[in-house]
Formats: sequence, structure tokens, C-alpha cells
Amino acid sequence: MLRISINPSQPEESAVKQAANIIKNGGLVAFPTETVYGLGANALNQTAVDKIYAAKGRPKDNPLIWHVDNAKTLLPYVDFAACETIFPNFFTLIERLFEKSVTLVLPVLEKMSTENPKTLAVRVPQNAIAKALIAESSCIIAAPSANTSGKPSPTNANHVAQDLSDKIDMLLDGGATQKGLESTVISFCQLDNEKVTVLKTPQLLRPGAATLETINDIFHLTNQNPISLTDFSTTKKPLAPGMKYRHYSPNTPLILLIGTQTAVTEKINTMPKNIAVFRTNNLKLEKVAQTLFSTLRELDEQNFAKIVVEGVPETGLGLAIMNRLKKAATEVIIL
Ligand code: AMP
Ligand code: MG
Repeated sequence: MLRISINPSQPEESAVKQAANIIKNGGLVAFPTETVYGLGANALNQTAVDKIYAAKGRPKDNPLIWHVDNAKTLLPYVDFAACETIFPNFFTLIERLFEKSVTLVLPVLEKMSTENPKTLAVRVPQNAIAKALIAESSCIIAAPSANTSGKPSPTNANHVAQDLSDKIDMLLDGGATQKGLESTVISFCQLDNEKVTVLKTPQLLRPGAATLETINDIFHLTNQNPISLTDFSTTKKPLAPGMKYRHYSPNTPLILLIGTQTAVTEKINTMPKNIAVFRTNNLKLEKVAQTLFSTLRELDEQNFAKIVVEGVPETGLGLAIMNRLKKAATEVIIL
């Protein structure tokens, strides 16, 4: 694997060109987005896409997000007419959502979907390196997070190297990612008996870097209805295929403590000494989000018997943080 440092605000042209050539030739490039590092390949080259699944050990039934430069690139693939019958300002709405690191699941045009998937998850990354790479490759880039499937998502280049160094062609090292959590996934459609219909109330499939408050504001500002929140704890059938898998997990068992600051302190005092403790109560949620995955990876390397994490309130970014922690936890203790 070739590893190159790249300036996150003004990416060097030579590095971008080199990476884009690899993508054009069917290879794999890991690159930073504003959320986490992605592992990219030309989305329309099936052999290249297969390599992503092999490198990550990702189950084949878990589809990939398409990364595009702007919403117009989707015109040949997505059934915008169907969406516009329900959301009159659909294009403006999705452009605003893309600006906030939201991934959208959209219906595929019928003529495209006879043999292909009937829905597509798409997003427009907001950072300079990802934008430059997509523009220079002049193709759609399919990219899941650049980690081994099931491990915490990578938020810096070392994480990617740890998991994938012998499995990919190139790693663009643009330092730590800004947000540290994956995109928020919202679906505008549902699949019933092989037929796709556009939903009047879009659904949250995965909480993430964009908060529900931000998303609701965008719906409000563009005169649409607010979205409904899916209750993850009671959903029997996973809505996003990715939701059924254990995720974000360090190898060390993780205990999630939910309760007041005092109750958490008392509980920790009763625990054996060789545990790692990640207290969150003094930190802003943005900071917890930014450092969560790197903290889990760092603690995982230090031979602790257990990693104990203090839960956060499930509002704002706290919803996504708790979603990841619950999936990573081997035990959740409510105090
Ligand atoms: P990752 O790229 O690893 O951050 O995961 C992408 C997430 O988007 C996973 O939870 C996928 O299951 C979900 N996803 C991708 N494509 C679709 C789709 N067409 N419909 C529903 N969910 C999707
Ligand atoms: Mg992932």
C-alpha cells in the first residue's frame, strides 16, 4: 500500500492525480471524508467494488454508499420525478441535506433497476480531499468506512493502515477527520415485494454526524414535513442492511454505563483495577463524537480486561454516539 500525506484544506494536485488514476484503473484508495475515512473504488466497475468487500471482509448483502460531487450526478440513476410528487422542492431539500453529511436512500429509475438494486444510498462528502478525488476520478466512488468490517470506523490514517495496509492500493493521509462519526442515513423510500415507493415521511435508518435537529430544520426551511424517528431498540426487521451486524467493536469487552454522574462514579469504584475508563460527562458531545472511535482503538491496544464507557444523553449528537456505543457494547448497565 502506498501511503501519501495530503493537505486537508488544499490537497496537492499530484497526490490527488495519483489516487484518481488508481480509482480509474479499478484499484482501491482510502481517503478522509469529514465523517470517517472511506475505502473508495469506481462504483460502476463491479470487479473494483468486489475488491472493497474482500478487503473489509464485509458481508455481500450490506450495500455501499455512492459518493458523488453533487446531486446532479444522480440524474441518470435516481427517480427524481417520483420523489418530486411528494416533495415539491426535492432537489433543494437534498442539496441542503448533503451539505450536512447526510446519506440519502433514494429510488432508482425503473429502467436502471431491472437487474440492479432498486434503491441507492448516496452522499456528497464536504471535505476538500474527497471532493478533489471525486472530481479528478470523474466517476462515482463507492465507499464504505475504511476499516475491517465490525471494527470501530477509522478516524485517522493509522487506523486505516492497522486494518487494511496489505489489502488496498493507496492511503491518502489527511490527518484526523473533523466529525469522527459516520454520516446520518435517511431513507426516502421503501421496498415492498420488489416494488419501491416514495415515503411521505422519510425514515432515519442510522443516526450520525448530522443531528435530527439539523435535519428537521432543513425540512422545515424547505417547507417539508418533519421526519419520523425509528426506534432502534424495538425494530425487529433492520431497515438498513448494515444495522443487523455487530459493529464498531474493540476486541476488549466494552461495558456501557448509563446513569447519573454520581452513580457512574460509584459503580466504577466497585470495579476491578485493570479496566480502562472513558468518562464523557465533562466533554462536549462534538468532542466525544470526534474522539470516540480513536479512544476505543487506543484503549483496545493496551491489554485492559475491560473498557468502561460512560453513556451520554440521547439528544443531538448523543443519539448517534449512544447508537454506536450500544452496538459496540458486550454489556449495557443501567444504573
Ligand atoms: P458504511 O458505508 O459502512 O458507513 O455503511 C453504509 C450504511 O448505509 C450501512 O448501514 C448500509 O446498510 C446502508 N445502506 C447502503 N445502501 C443502502 C440502501 N440501498 N438501502 C438502505 N441502506 C443502505
Ligand atoms: Mg462502516
